Amino acid sequence: MVIDMHTHTFPEKIAGKVLDKLATAANSTYFADGTNEGLRGAMDEAGVDYAVLMPVATNSQQYEKINKKAFILNEQGEENGLFSFAAIHPDNSNFKEILNEAARNGVKGIKLHPVYQETEFDDIRYMRLIDYACSLGLMITVHAGYDVGYPGDRKAAPEHILPVLNTVKPEKMILAHMGGWRFWDEVEEQIAGRDVYLDTSYSLGRITSYAAPRTPQDSAQMSREQFLRIVKKHGADKILFGSDSPWSSQKTSLEDLESIGLSDIELSQIKGENARILLGL
Ligand SMILES: [Zn+2]
Repeated sequence: MVIDMHTHTFPEKIAGKVLDKLATAANSTYFADGTNEGLRGAMDEAGVDYAVLMPVATNSQQYEKINKKAFILNEQGEENGLFSFAAIHPDNSNFKEILNEAARNGVKGIKLHPVYQETEFDDIRYMRLIDYACSLGLMITVHAGYDVGYPGDRKAAPEHILPVLNTVKPEKMILAHMGGWRFWDEVEEQIAGRDVYLDTSYSLGRITSYAAPRTPQDSAQMSREQFLRIVKKHGADKILFGSDSPWSSQKTSLEDLESIGLSDIELSQIKGENARILLGL
């Protein structure tokens, strides 16, 4: 079974515009049209059985609309292959209510994005909502590291992540982008081996430019050697396949992972087995 634990789609009416805006800001092209249907098509092409959407609330009001959609999507998740995490913003003082409602509606986890949410990850507002999410058995996926669209914006670096691991000790937290996009030396040293999941999204291969040309250095993701070292040190049982579709091709992301030199057992854990257990499928 193949499960993509990190994908994005947008409301059909605005998907085109949103993709163009984000792709321009990040100078990183897209590989699906940003709709649920487009993602389904990409999944069929890549042989992905399930994909989990990671919506982000960029202000304290957005959770309502996003989560209503997530609840509806999840009702048919087993049949149509798409699940969605819920969104929440650190400014939400009603976080208990939001998380209770998410759990009641069968949502498996929440997505946080310190850069988009303009809050350092070790902020007390994140800590308390993560602690409460854990008490409800929810997974927590957090964007980790820099964001390609916000160069140098440091809010989800290892120095912000480690206090959360040490203080809150979340059981089912997932650090996106192999623990911290473009913080991979620090991840290898300080985070690999800790009790946390890493997703593989937007970490292997090359970044394909959207607007301006990119230099080879600017297009670089993590090296295959470092990826392998981190997998060995961290343990394949705590690594989850993610593509960040539409920002990477699911098919290419899978091919990159499959050709990197992992054993069959490690591959099957990363490609779906770990996620299957977490999602209870
Ligand atoms: Zn993402």
